[in-house]
Amino acid sequence: MPYCNHCKVSIRGNRERCPLCRNIIAIESDTSDCREIFPAIPPVFERNLALRIMIFSTVVAIVVSLVIYVLFPSDVKWPVFVLLGLISMWLNLFVVLRKRYHISKNILWQVAILSILSILWDWGTGWHGWSLDYVIPFIFVAAMLIMYVTAKIMKISARDYITYLLLDGLLGIVPILFIRYNLVEAIYPSVLSVAISVISLSAIFIFQGDYIKSELIKRMHI
Ligand SMILES: [Zn+2]
Repeated sequence: MPYCNHCKVSIRGNRERCPLCRNIIAIESDTSDCREIFPAIPPVFERNLALRIMIFSTVVAIVVSLVIYVLFPSDVKWPVFVLLGLISMWLNLFVVLRKRYHISKNILWQVAILSILSILWDWGTGWHGWSLDYVIPFIFVAAMLIMYVTAKIMKISARDYITYLLLDGLLGIVPILFIRYNLVEAIYPSVLSVAISVISLSAIFIFQGDYIKSELIKRMHI
């Protein structure tokens, strides 16, 4: 093992200089324990391999769809949908990666992005109403459940996600307007969304009401 004559210490790992005094170490013939203390860190490209595979797949998907479209032309410009789908996926992934340390906030961002994208998709493909009928009420309900379940699994305290649960609960009531203004054909998903939101909000106020009150007082400086 390398030994520093100046500091009188043995040093693990393959070093040329003593980490304490910076003097050159006399390497002894006994190399019994030259293992590095710190684990070798894989280079960045290996850690981002998944990302590189996804970028590559995106490029392949765009090229392949364009090639098929050029070879077999059709009236519908479907490669545009492929492109929109890929953009949706990357937007989502970007948000997930940026907000990964704040799960409830992340979920609420997903709700916003997916809702807007579903409306744009529905509108772009000649408005059939499926975004308001099914997708949006389903997203609101799913977000409430996912938020609650992940918070329980990850042992996130109520105060860290209650604001987001509250916001999603309020969003979940919005489909009442879809029904009121006859914007939906299938009313069951909207009814379900409103009912679950009302139950969830009442649970928040009944069980966490004191906390919300104290937070409001703190934030509004009442
Ligand atoms: Zn030394």
